[in-house]
Amino acid sequence: MNREKEIIRISALGIVVNIVLVGFKLAVGFLSSSIAIILDGVNNLADALSSVVTIIGTKLANRAPDRKHPYGYGKVEYVSSVTVAVIILLAGFAAFRESFDKMLHPAAASYSAASLVIIAVAAAVKLIFGRYIKKAGRTYHSESLTASGTDSMMDAVISLSTLAAAGVSMAFSVSIEGILGVVISVFIFKAGIEILMESLGNIIGARVDSRLSGELKNFICKNPAVLGAYDLALHQYGPERMIGSVHIEVPDDMTAREIHGLTRQITEDVYRSFGIVLTVGIYASNTMSGIFAEMKEALAGLVREYPEVLQMHGFYVDTEKMLVYFDLIIDFKAENQTEIEQDIIRRMKERFAAYEFIVILDSDVSD
Ligand SMILES: [Zn+2]
Repeated sequence: MNREKEIIRISALGIVVNIVLVGFKLAVGFLSSSIAIILDGVNNLADALSSVVTIIGTKLANRAPDRKHPYGYGKVEYVSSVTVAVIILLAGFAAFRESFDKMLHPAAASYSAASLVIIAVAAAVKLIFGRYIKKAGRTYHSESLTASGTDSMMDAVISLSTLAAAGVSMAFSVSIEGILGVVISVFIFKAGIEILMESLGNIIGARVDSRLSGELKNFICKNPAVLGAYDLALHQYGPERMIGSVHIEVPDDMTAREIHGLTRQITEDVYRSFGIVLTVGIYASNTMSGIFAEMKEALAGLVREYPEVLQMHGFYVDTEKMLVYFDLIIDFKAENQTEIEQDIIRRMKERFAAYEFIVILDSDVSD
C-alpha cells in the first residue's frame, strides 16, 4: 500500500470525524448552554487541525529531491509532528486553566440527559478512532499520525472523565470535575512533551534503533567473504529515507575485482531489503600465518583491562611496512579517551617494539 496515500486518507477521515463532532457538540452546547461541551467542541477543532498539519507535512515530505535539497524533504515530517505536539500542549494548557478555575470555584454540574449521551457517544467515537489512527501511525512510521491518535485518545479520556465527574457530582452533590481535569491535563502535558522530545531528537539526530543496526550487521555478515561488519553509521532523512556507511572486514588476499563485486552486492542487497543506501568501506584481515594471531590475542587481552573500551576492530598487520592497524571504540562517558588510546598503544609497543601502531578512535554511533 502507498504510505503517503494511506496517511492522507486516514488524516482526511480524521478531519471529517472531528468536524462532525464539532457540529454536534456546538449544537448541543448552545442548546443546553453548557460551556464545558462548547469548549469540548472547540477542542475537536484542534484535532482536525492536527490532521491538516499531518496531511500538509506528508505532502511536503514526499517532494522529490532537488539540487538544493539532495537528501529530499523527509525531515519535514519531524517538523509536522513537532507542530502536532505543540497543538497537544496548547490543548493541555487550555484544559488545565479551565479545570483549575473549576477547582477553585466548583459549580454544581447541570447536564441534561441529551448532553450526557452526546458526550458519551463522542468519547466512544474518539477512543476507537484514536486507537485506529495510532495503529496506522505505527504501521506507516508516521510520527504525526501517531501523535494525532494519542491526542484523540486523550480527548476521549477527558470527555469520559467529564462524564464520570458529572455522575459523581449529581449523585453525591460534590464537584470533582476541577481536580480530575487538572490531573488529566498533567497527563496531556506529559504526552505532548514526549512526542515533542522524540521529534526533536530525530531532527537533532538520534542513535539508530539497536534492533535495526543488529539486523543490518547480521544481514551483511551472512555473506561468506565478510569476516565482520563495523562502524555502521546511519543518517535519517525522514522515516523512509536512510543513508549510511559500514566497514566490512575481508581477507587480505582478495583482489580489487573481487572486492568491487562484493561491496556492490552488499550495497544492492541492503537497498533492496532495507531501503537504505549504504556505502561500504573495507578493512583487510591477515590470511597468512605469522605473528598476527599472537599480537591480536595480546591486544584483546589488553583491551579487556579497560572497561571503557567497548570494541576493538579492524586489526591488521602489514609485515612489509611493519605497521599495525586497529580501531578502538571508547564509551562516550569516558573523559580520558585519548589517554586510554595512548596507554594501549604504549603497552603494545613495549611488547612488539619493532612495529608502528596506527590507531583510529571510532565514535560509538550504533550498537
Ligand atoms: Zn572502525
